[in-house]
Amino acid sequence: MLHIDKSRSKQPQILALAIQDMRRTPGQTVCYDNLPSYVTVRGRSLSVRDELLKALIEDQRGLCAYCMRRIEPRNAHIEHYIPRHCDWYQGKRTLDELSVDYRNMLAVCKENGTCDATRGNAELTVDPRNQSDIEQIRYNTKAEILSDNTAIDSDCRGLLNLNDGFLVYGRMQTLQGLYRWYQHESRRAGDMKSKCRKRLDELQNGTGHNDPYAGILIYRLERKIRALS
Ligand SMILES: [Zn+2]
Repeated sequence: MLHIDKSRSKQPQILALAIQDMRRTPGQTVCYDNLPSYVTVRGRSLSVRDELLKALIEDQRGLCAYCMRRIEPRNAHIEHYIPRHCDWYQGKRTLDELSVDYRNMLAVCKENGTCDATRGNAELTVDPRNQSDIEQIRYNTKAEILSDNTAIDSDCRGLLNLNDGFLVYGRMQTLQGLYRWYQHESRRAGDMKSKCRKRLDELQNGTGHNDPYAGILIYRLERKIRALS
């Protein structure tokens, strides 16, 4: 899992227009289920849900919010972090309000059995929008995900099933790629710590598509930099 900084992401214009549409319709509740299918933007009729999903994927640099696999619109969908319908939420805002809040939406893969596939409307403790939650996630040498925080650990390994064999394999391949990069760079000129810092910065703050499973790379690079200090 990676930190998704929602404070930086802007609500797409299409969502603002869709909300306006719903407000103008007498007797209609403003909520995700009532989103109009299409909205006209600069003379073009665009699918609201498709455009929202594309914007989310872009904000997440092309990776699933939970498992960090590469996603595209055809193999992803919109997940509401606070579900649209649930009986445990006790915040100030209504579920209808949250259902159309861009900051409550995440782009998530459609794979069977991982991420939100079995979550339903269950409550999650781990929140990719919180940096402090991400900092409590660890990866062992087998590339399995874990946390000393039992609630986060249970979400990652249980509810989200992030140690599914396919994901562990993907993360291990990514890790081995990093080790090869260390070997390659150590034979070339330049300070290893600076090179690691540059790569870490690109993973955390870069633009465009990120490396799949970037979270394990960040985790390992931070430790490598500390070891080189
Ligand atoms: Zn996923």
